[in-house]
Amino acid sequence: MKYYSTRGNSFVDSTSEALLKGLADDGGLFIPEEIRKVNFTDEEIERLDYTEFVYKVISAIFDDLDGEKLKIEIEKAYSKFPKDILPIKNVGNLYFMELFHGETRAFKDFALSLLPRLIKIAKEENNIEEKTLILTATSGDTGSAAISGFSGVDNTNIIVFYPTDGISLIQRAQMINSGSKNATAVAIDGNFDDAQSALKKIFNDLEFKKELREAGHILTSANSINIGRLVPQIAYYFYSYYKLVKEGIIENGEKISVAVPTGNFGNILAAYFSKLMGLSIEDFICASNKNNILEDFIKTGVYDTNREFYKTNSPSMDILVSSNLERYLSLKSGDSNEIYSLMKNLNETGKFEYKNDLEMFGFSCEEEETLKVIDKIYRKSGYVIDTHTAVAVKAAEKYLDGKDKKILIAATASPVKFAMEISKAIGLDVDDEAKAIEEVAKLSNDVEFLEKVNTDSMQELVIDKEDIKEFVRERIMC
Ligand SMILES: *Cc1c(COP(=O)(O)O)cnc(C)c1O
Repeated sequence: MKYYSTRGNSFVDSTSEALLKGLADDGGLFIPEEIRKVNFTDEEIERLDYTEFVYKVISAIFDDLDGEKLKIEIEKAYSKFPKDILPIKNVGNLYFMELFHGETRAFKDFALSLLPRLIKIAKEENNIEEKTLILTATSGDTGSAAISGFSGVDNTNIIVFYPTDGISLIQRAQMINSGSKNATAVAIDGNFDDAQSALKKIFNDLEFKKELREAGHILTSANSINIGRLVPQIAYYFYSYYKLVKEGIIENGEKISVAVPTGNFGNILAAYFSKLMGLSIEDFICASNKNNILEDFIKTGVYDTNREFYKTNSPSMDILVSSNLERYLSLKSGDSNEIYSLMKNLNETGKFEYKNDLEMFGFSCEEEETLKVIDKIYRKSGYVIDTHTAVAVKAAEKYLDGKDKKILIAATASPVKFAMEISKAIGLDVDDEAKAIEEVAKLSNDVEFLEKVNTDSMQELVIDKEDIKEFVRERIMC
């Protein structure tokens, strides 16, 4: 597969190059030149094996990676998940695709369990012997999932940068006390956007990349700017759709809409790719929390980051600059000059305008509403959802507005990760986070997870965002 950059001035001839570069040389994001349809036979739907779905979807795009190797690595990546890798729970019209049964209990495990293995294949294909250096900005869940995914991978170092506040106790513990020898977690004095834009600068810093390379390290990203993050996520939309078909909930070919709690726009973009690859999806419901820049954009065509940034109870969505939106706009517009100028405006003024129809619904949810939704679902059905998932439920309700239609909801995190908020929402009598975690874990049948998280004696390392480059130098090259 060949890939072009959203900004039109950079191309690569192979998947392995796109995986290793992460970001294109012109600062844009890679998009596969050809998006093919993928079909599943009745027999495949009946058998419904997750890794086979992943293989078929991934190999339709990563068609130039060694198929046998790819199969083996997919098997290994998903062997860490439970047998029922992606349960779907139903409450009324809503079908919750529980994407949180991986090691760190957020949907990001699906992509980040596989990404290190894709990078390994890419390095072999390019005869690269240098060590891999993964730098990643996280709003909480990418960091832990990336550390878990890259843990024990030879010749690889990973450094994750997370904002000092806003993230939950479990998220912090998963990163700081991961016990992983090749991983470092550092707090950035600032928010997620600060961390993400500082890292983007490093990825654009060709001098620094050269310096690292001379010291024996190739730099890449585990953020969803990497095409290797996006593609594995497409597979779970196929799998979930056919699971509903297999269970007789929908007919094969019937259209269903999806609601996705959105931050960096990766997950919902994967849903959009699944439609381009042939899945019968009707509408895309992009759900935002109080940081509702995407809702405003979808409704008005104006993307304006000059606004207040809120720390909310769904912290993994506290983002104003959604990187993957650039890929979506590129696919919609088809004109790289236009994308180049939109991104230039964004850089220079913090704002751009795109006036064509986005073919997406955008709704947002205030913090109080988020808690009310959690409580309502719990009272109605005994089912406990996390804060991010609740934002998507609210958006789905606004979209439905009383209509009787089935919606697939991306349930992106386990409620245990955000136990304090959940306790507040459903009125549990707890006074500290550790106790809340214990209670919510019981309610969602996940006490096993608790045994793995160590919240004791956490030593936090905090640096200024201006010092990221120096920090990387010291860690890696000394
Ligand atoms: C990362 C994350 C999101 C946002 O997903 P994007 O792909 O960045 O839009 C939503 N919910 C949870 C729990 C997350 O960890």
